[in-house]
Amino acid sequence: MTDIVKSFPWLQSSWSQLENYRIQNRIPQALLISGYKGLGKLQLAEYFANTLLCSSSQSAEASCGKCASCLLFKAGTHPDYIFIEPEEEGKAIGIAVIRQLIVKLALMPQYDAYRVVIINSADSLNNASANAFLKYLEEPTERTCVVLITEQPSRLPATIRSRCQKLNISTPDQIVFNIGLKQLGISDNKDLLYVLSQGAPLLAKQLSDTSVLKLRTDCFKNWLKLAHSEICFVDLAEQWHKLARAEAGFLLFWLISWVVDMIKLSYHKQPVQLYNQDLITDLQDLVQRLDLKNLYKYYDFLLLCQHRLDTQLNKQLMFEEILIQWSRLNSR
Ligand SMILES: [Zn+2]
Repeated sequence: MTDIVKSFPWLQSSWSQLENYRIQNRIPQALLISGYKGLGKLQLAEYFANTLLCSSSQSAEASCGKCASCLLFKAGTHPDYIFIEPEEEGKAIGIAVIRQLIVKLALMPQYDAYRVVIINSADSLNNASANAFLKYLEEPTERTCVVLITEQPSRLPATIRSRCQKLNISTPDQIVFNIGLKQLGISDNKDLLYVLSQGAPLLAKQLSDTSVLKLRTDCFKNWLKLAHSEICFVDLAEQWHKLARAEAGFLLFWLISWVVDMIKLSYHKQPVQLYNQDLITDLQDLVQRLDLKNLYKYYDFLLLCQHRLDTQLNKQLMFEEILIQWSRLNSR
């Protein structure tokens, strides 16, 4: 078993596809790796890159880890390896970067193996840089493999997608997810993490490493207090406004999942499969107080907020509105 599959067992079939390219000597000139956040797309691409760069990769192992190429790759200084990603999350990959890449690729590789380019968050290419990159794909250089990585392949121009071999990493089922968590050294809260990470083991690890689970508990407690008018919505909105971007994203996801669970509970008096199985008693209590039609409206409103989170809106106002509506829903 190769190291990548040992560490990230859910990547088994994805790795097989990449390995087959190598065995059949059909390395794609452009490869598009897609899949949700937290599935290890980048780790897989880097591992594949190492394999292609290794100068003794005829061995059974994917890469030897000892040759000059492997050592340079490990040190992050391999001359035939180029890594590109947006300077900051949410920023575009500009045309200057792609022009520079094309100039580099016009030169010969320094070593005798492949040359590998990884473009992470490839959907961040803007129109100009995507067009420049497309021109490269129309006349790619030999023995070069460009790996594009994205969570949202549909945001890449169809003209680029059609020139790539595709590898979509699917979300593992819970059995494989649990094996993955074990490999990552996580043994607690598996069921909850499966739901909160939507099945992405590396995201689950991030959630369990940081204080995110505690944050979820605190947010839910306060949301409950507001339903019982034990807390002022302005104070709570101010608290939530201070959350980092990623945390605010989690919070909106949780709010939506709480409301979805309440809608489910209002249809089934018997216990049903909930996202938030650990909160069932409190959610059941809340359902008794709420009107289903209004709950649906609130759900639509939360979805809208989730879409707007990345635009330049006033986050504090958004949370105030979310909490005012929640408060109203409960005070009928
Ligand atoms: Zn090597």
